[in-house]
Amino acid sequence: MNYDTFCIRCGKQINPITIDDFDILFSEYNENLLLNAEITDEEYLEILSNIFMRAEYIEIWGNSTKNKIISLASVFTECKPKSRGYERGYIFLDNNIYYDDRLSDSVQIATIIHELAHYLLFSIIESLLCKILKVNTSPTLQSFIWYFITLPEFKIMNEYCAHTVEGRFIPYGYQNYGSFNTLVQNSNMDEESLESMVILGNSFANEIIVYLEKYIGNELREEIKIQYRKDSSSPNYESIFAETNDCLPLELKNRVILNLLYDILKETSTEARKELESIKEGIDLN
Ligand SMILES: [Zn+2]
Repeated sequence: MNYDTFCIRCGKQINPITIDDFDILFSEYNENLLLNAEITDEEYLEILSNIFMRAEYIEIWGNSTKNKIISLASVFTECKPKSRGYERGYIFLDNNIYYDDRLSDSVQIATIIHELAHYLLFSIIESLLCKILKVNTSPTLQSFIWYFITLPEFKIMNEYCAHTVEGRFIPYGYQNYGSFNTLVQNSNMDEESLESMVILGNSFANEIIVYLEKYIGNELREEIKIQYRKDSSSPNYESIFAETNDCLPLELKNRVILNLLYDILKETSTEARKELESIKEGIDLN
């Protein structure tokens, strides 16, 4: 069966505006687009600036430091307080940020920045796939990204990235790689694969940090430090050792992520359909 759409006149493939069906997502046509994908640094930087453009024209405001951070994060996605469950925060299939309002303000600030980093990494991969597959986003495409990003090794990469972005904006010593460490302990990844995921996560974190520093500038970072002092929790300095400067050059990093996306797309087309369907149901419900 052929799911692709062809022009009656010239027989050329017509791209769908969105991909609404897993059979189309996993078609040979899309597989080939991803296999042969190339992206220049300029094109990639344009993707990044499109994502962050939304924050360009807004005034970050708030009557507390926490509210300023919420005001920034809300430019990208909705931020909702939660008051149940052990997690400090999370992003859900609706891509909203949830943070626990029972935590002290300083920890809420760290949590919101952490979840915002998850959101932004998701958006980067989403925009990258949309560009390569020449479509707009859709629940079907998002289901695949959720699936990709929650596979054990990429979850580790994603978590490392979010902890690193968070760690940039909070005072020295309070850095926390908690959920990253837990994932590593529960995984059976070899040293080398782990290191490559850390470097990939760190490379994405650096991209996100450069943009966020524009909005969480010196002044706001000083305010965050003051909030930590007010909350008088003590630093533990433990996680600072998890930080690294190792990072891939942009072109290489993009080649790596595109190859990984291709591998998983190819693998998923036969193996994980059920799981994808249930992720998509979750997205549709929200
Ligand atoms: Zn996280």
